[in-house]
Amino acid sequence: MQPVTPRPPAERDARRDIVEVCRRIYARGWLAATDGNVSVRLGDDRVLTTPTGVHKGYLREDDLLVVDRRGRRVSGTRGPSSEIAMHLAAYDVRPDVGAVVHAHPTNCIAFSLAGVSLAQCLLPEVVFTFGSIPTTAYTTPTTEEVPNEVRRWLVGFDAMILDRHGSLTVGADVYAAYDKLERMEHVAEITLRARMLGPIRPLEPAQVERLREVGRGLGLPDRTILPSPCDHCNACPSGKAAAAPPLPPPGHAPLPLAADREDLVRRVTESLSATLARPRGR
Ligand SMILES: [Zn+2]
Repeated sequence: MQPVTPRPPAERDARRDIVEVCRRIYARGWLAATDGNVSVRLGDDRVLTTPTGVHKGYLREDDLLVVDRRGRRVSGTRGPSSEIAMHLAAYDVRPDVGAVVHAHPTNCIAFSLAGVSLAQCLLPEVVFTFGSIPTTAYTTPTTEEVPNEVRRWLVGFDAMILDRHGSLTVGADVYAAYDKLERMEHVAEITLRARMLGPIRPLEPAQVERLREVGRGLGLPDRTILPSPCDHCNACPSGKAAAAPPLPPPGHAPLPLAADREDLVRRVTESLSATLARPRGR
């Protein structure tokens, strides 16, 4: 089935909604000052977007500008962000996308800095909503590398982490794209807390398959699951770090656990034998 391009909203409504979404993202702390950008497709060759250099917490509807599909300003007084190329790539690759949200959410970026993937299937609602959450390769900001990299991932995914940079989420409208950012950052926060408690347990392949069956039954779109996400995870039980023992604290070299245990058993046995060998009453 061909993807359906959503009916574009009235420009006045789109302006109001973009400002509302920017305020929410700023209020949640998922960008700082002028970071991030939000856009809405107004038609075949028109995209309404946030300008460069304006604080998202104080953005006004008349700060927004309209660009064509090559990123050239059609109306408005401010300039477009250099990151508009990512948004245009999304509209290009995905006719079903009506809005794009790019932010700098704290936990998502922290995971990418640590080199820990969020692609494992951990929570049922993530399998339903996203499939896997990929992390794109690092690209140099403001260059063509950025849209070229996200273009590859947008074919199969609605939400992704941009390495050392932020998030990109798309949807039929701006609230749908915002909701995916909220869910992805929530997953990142839950995963961070779970990792603080100990090793995490991804869903079993059979559990993921069952979720996908249920999703199909509910009429949800089939989401892409990355084939072996733990190839690029360095912290979960089956990830790369599983093979390496934890480092001891500096200046302290503990005995290996097995040797410790043997030593303990030997000393307990000796002590018991000595007690049993003692004559009664002494
Ligand atoms: Zn950015």
